[in-house]
Amino acid sequence: MDTASLICDRGRAIDTSGIRKVFQLAATLKDPINLSIGQPDFAVPDPIKRAAIDAIENNHNGYTASQGIPPLVERVNAELTKDLGWDTTSDIHQTLITSGTAGALLLLFLALVGPGDEAIIPDPYFVMYPHLATIAGGKAVRCDMYPDFRMTAERVEPLITERTKFVLFNSPNNPSGVVSPKDDCKELLELCRANGVLLVSDEIYDEFTFADGMTDVSANDASEARCPSPARFDGAQDDVLVIRGFGKTYGCTGWRMGYATGPKPVVDAMQRIQGYSFVCAPSISQWGALAAMDVDMVDTVSAYAARRDKVHGRLSELTDVAYPQGAFYSFPKVPEHLGVTGTEFVNRCIERNLLIIPGGAFSDRDTHVRLSFAAPEAKLDAGLDVLCELMSG
Ligand code: PMP
Repeated sequence: MDTASLICDRGRAIDTSGIRKVFQLAATLKDPINLSIGQPDFAVPDPIKRAAIDAIENNHNGYTASQGIPPLVERVNAELTKDLGWDTTSDIHQTLITSGTAGALLLLFLALVGPGDEAIIPDPYFVMYPHLATIAGGKAVRCDMYPDFRMTAERVEPLITERTKFVLFNSPNNPSGVVSPKDDCKELLELCRANGVLLVSDEIYDEFTFADGMTDVSANDASEARCPSPARFDGAQDDVLVIRGFGKTYGCTGWRMGYATGPKPVVDAMQRIQGYSFVCAPSISQWGALAAMDVDMVDTVSAYAARRDKVHGRLSELTDVAYPQGAFYSFPKVPEHLGVTGTEFVNRCIERNLLIIPGGAFSDRDTHVRLSFAAPEAKLDAGLDVLCELMSG
């Protein structure tokens, strides 16, 4: 049977992501210096592992409610009240535990974006964003954020049409690590409100904000600075959908844990789709996530800040590179004097056994490269040596 001919347009429209292509290449190299992976290099803290093991042993192995296990939903809601000042008891609010942050994003696109509909996404973007629009049958409209990688109201405004369903904002940003200042968040929220467009804030890296990026203050604790969020302004819970995750923060990306929280009609639609697709987030991971919420990652984040200093210090001497105040990526421009694209530059790196990702995997432009500093120090140093030599070249 010619099964290839059975694939529909949607199935054909999705090709292997630029990142996966680099991973496939990585498999052919012997002991590469791999700075391509967006995954923390520390072990999951013991109390979190213990909670997941206990969940298995205590027979929490069945389906859970679609919304998530009640203790986790309650714990997340309590955190939202503390951090964002949200009234999670309001009957217009809802929280949904999802299968990864990616699960929340997919449900969002399926619930809101139909044929002809548009979602405004940042460019550069997290690789899934445009594909999710395609899967949903709609269109991802790119907001060009070069060269400072800020998704400002000024840049978004001309892109809004009557088909726009939401603006997808991501700070700290993947791939640039840029943290948007509080004023940008406020202006974007005001713009979305004025146009009746939902503001979606993908905050998967919010716990991975370095001290110099944490300028906003939590709702209930004036001493606790946090990554600025559009969700922290008055009344934001009516107009902002927040998506957060556990995988990056606690090093458990494979556990597939995240949540979406915000206006009930939106989250409710997502929950109904979850009921007939994912069914629920993984039960064991939900118990692990509950324990994770008591674990403080501040030392790990500080250790990553020291790596950021090293990476940024070396690269900024050679090329244009935005200062990453969060996440664990740097997104330098390929120096113009080399006269090559991001992809061509990455090929040169691969010849030297270094794996990084071409900017074209995250963008309509192929002028930059992304490296992850979520890698052991020795590898990071070796990779920086190669990179700096090639950039000076
Ligand atoms: N959003 C962003 C901005 C990301 O970088 C990622 C993962 N790289 C995700 C969402 C998806 O994360 P998860 O593993 O929780 O699905």
